[in-house]
Amino acid sequence: MSSHKPLLQLHIFSPLDYYRGSGGPQTVERKRWGTPVLKGFLKAGKQLGYDIIDPNAAEQIGFSEIDLTARNGQRWSTAEAYIKPAAQTRPNLHVLVDARVTQVIFNSNRRATGVRFLHHGKVKTALASREVVMSAGAIGSPHLLLLSGVGPAYHLKEHGIPVVVDLPGVGQNLQDHPNVPGLAWTVTKGSSFNYLTLANPKHVLDYVKNRQGPLTSPVGTEGNAWPPSPVGDPYWPEIQLAFVSGTPATDFGLVLPGTFRFRKELYHNFYKSILGKEGFSLVPLINRPKSRGSVTLRSRDPLADPLIDTNFLADPDDAAVLVRGVKFALEVGSAPALRQEHGAKFHDKLLPECAHNKPFSDAYWECYVRYFTHTSYHPAGTCKMAPESDPYSVVDHRLRLRGVTGLRVVDASIMPLVVSGNTNAAAIMIGERAADLVKEDWGVPVYG
Ligand SMILES: Cc1cc2nc3c(=O)[nH]c(=O)nc-3n(C[C@H](O)[C@H](O)[C@H](O)COP(=O)(O)OP(=O)(O)OC[C@H]3O[C@@H](n4cnc5c(N)ncnc54)[C@H](O)[C@@H]3O)c2cc1C
Repeated sequence: MSSHKPLLQLHIFSPLDYYRGSGGPQTVERKRWGTPVLKGFLKAGKQLGYDIIDPNAAEQIGFSEIDLTARNGQRWSTAEAYIKPAAQTRPNLHVLVDARVTQVIFNSNRRATGVRFLHHGKVKTALASREVVMSAGAIGSPHLLLLSGVGPAYHLKEHGIPVVVDLPGVGQNLQDHPNVPGLAWTVTKGSSFNYLTLANPKHVLDYVKNRQGPLTSPVGTEGNAWPPSPVGDPYWPEIQLAFVSGTPATDFGLVLPGTFRFRKELYHNFYKSILGKEGFSLVPLINRPKSRGSVTLRSRDPLADPLIDTNFLADPDDAAVLVRGVKFALEVGSAPALRQEHGAKFHDKLLPECAHNKPFSDAYWECYVRYFTHTSYHPAGTCKMAPESDPYSVVDHRLRLRGVTGLRVVDASIMPLVVSGNTNAAAIMIGERAADLVKEDWGVPVYG
């Protein structure tokens, strides 16, 4: 899909940069603040023979600082970029918060005519004179379709839901970028991130007055690296290695164990010796996983969460990619720029659950990878866009739901394959493209 309108605007690069748009609503900025050890990470890349790259340009192999969806040092979400400005200028836009859609309403001709939703404890209905656009995300959209009678007929019948259309692909083909979050290095004091930094009044003032300093930075990921692939096209990296300026133990266990869903005993035993110490993590993730998961109904109660089976690493190739990612991380972590200049020391305590394997052998790392595997929060693929000949196709090339009329799905669920990079920009582009498709289909000039 390609939209000709500039969507992403990067402030730091020249607007003439071939790979960057300008003038679009969604801005992207370079980081305004970084830890000293981020410089060590980039220097480590150079020492290993890599270039420092712009990750959005043609060349993907190399090391980079991250870009941020921010404007003037402040998070620039799609609400800031699109909804708030439109709410000020368009009398026909009504935004209802705290509303939960429970069902799409179809008439007897299988045309979507509106939605039923819960709002402050009351069931309400919104009717559509033209069409319904569903953007509930790669978990929410298939869940809502299943609740509305669109999905595999046998599964709907299991839950006593009348079948509007039998679409076997709804909720299937779930993909993500599985990652391994546990690899940790400690560093010399002052090199990395310290949580007290955020509470320092000097930094708070710097942010409020100048939009500068640590509070302009998302806590955590500061850089990325992409090594060449040993399998297939070497220039199409199979791994993204995230550089995170903290370890799972940096915050003394206040927030991070919950974020990574570590078991309490694991956390306190495995990370005990580095609790509260400054450090960094290197987190490999798979760009193009082969395993596929699913989103299905737990119950026909619309307020019950769906069942999410990530099925991570079901395909052994995915585990092999992550083991290669761990080895690359170890190589980066022991580069002189990190070891000598920042005192980087790998937390090499053996994971008890994997200690039956020869320490740090491929078998040990595969066990480790399977133990720690975690979501990157990039779910995609559960309402697959595909030709009609594909039995798992859910939407067509104009994002129209198959088998019904008047309903489009517009979110990361339509990706047939998860993009081989972070998903946010791609999800926004799907929204941009869909806006053009809707206009075209209703005879409205696209660029008028
Ligand atoms: C913690 C986290 C960190 C992330 N970090 C990054 C990152 O650094 N870079 C990156 O590129 N991507 C990142 N992502 C991924 C990125 O946010 C998603 O890929 C993107 O938001 C997907 O867009 P979407 O429109 O498909 O779904 P969403 O953004 O999830 O939008 C779906 C919306 O539908 C609403 N909804 C669902 N069901 C219903 C219902 N029944 N009724 C009413 N509303 C409903 C949800 O509340 C949500 O607001 C991150 C995601 C998470 C969760």
